[in-house]
Amino acid sequence: MVIRGFDVISDFNSVTLLRESHLLSESEKGPAQLNRKVGSSKRFRLLIFDGDDTLWDTLNLYRLAKAAFVQLLAEQGFLDSTVLKVFDAINISNLRIHGFSRTRFPISMIQAYLGMCAETGRTRNPEIEAKVRAIGDSVFTEAAPSKPFVQPILIKLSQRYKMVLCTKGEPQIQEMRIDQSGVRQYFHRIFVVPRKGEPELKSILAECFVDPSQACSIGNSLRSDINPALRIGMYAVWIPGATWPAEEDDEIISNRLSKITSLGELPHELKILGSRGCD
Ligand SMILES: [Mg+2]
Repeated sequence: MVIRGFDVISDFNSVTLLRESHLLSESEKGPAQLNRKVGSSKRFRLLIFDGDDTLWDTLNLYRLAKAAFVQLLAEQGFLDSTVLKVFDAINISNLRIHGFSRTRFPISMIQAYLGMCAETGRTRNPEIEAKVRAIGDSVFTEAAPSKPFVQPILIKLSQRYKMVLCTKGEPQIQEMRIDQSGVRQYFHRIFVVPRKGEPELKSILAECFVDPSQACSIGNSLRSDINPALRIGMYAVWIPGATWPAEEDDEIISNRLSKITSLGELPHELKILGSRGCD
């Protein structure tokens, strides 16, 4: 059962339908209609885009926040290298508890500060603690700039392909990122998921009546965007960039995988990949 608006698709397991675009309602279209629209040309019937660090740059916000945290604690006499090491360990460990939620990053910073105070026998300073919290929150209160070529490439591709966005994280934050980047209009559907892997991609393909062999996932993360797509028979375009351990994975060797350095190369790469077998 599909519930419109911001509700959850109840038979969709972990996939949350955040919003249906005004452009098209897939649930109202059957495979026959989609096939007729696509015709017999060799092209993907569905592109599934990632959001964070594919369409907009969040990593730099995290980098800046961590630099401000290190600077603040250095002023309190803590060693730069220790601060980063302690914080990174806590932040990764907190994935088990907080997942990819809004709370994890600021809480990890507070815990790192308090832990280092306890470790070195210093008294915690409420003023510093408040500053640490503000630094941690800054990654969510500041806009994430769009990646280069986002607008022209999405305009171009949306004229040729059916496209959906599947982005991982808290709905409220992801909604904000989507609006700030101005990309909503290019996607037929937008899915915000708490985690992104094979089940989520399969659910999206089923919902869109598209076979994995006719769909391509585009993103920066081997773990979330690329490898799960390849494992279920989809094609994938990987745009590697600086990332963090939670998104790293081994690269799968496959002729269904392409690697590009920026979104600007995507239209050409999709043509090449599409000619290898889709349709
Ligand atoms: Mg990403």
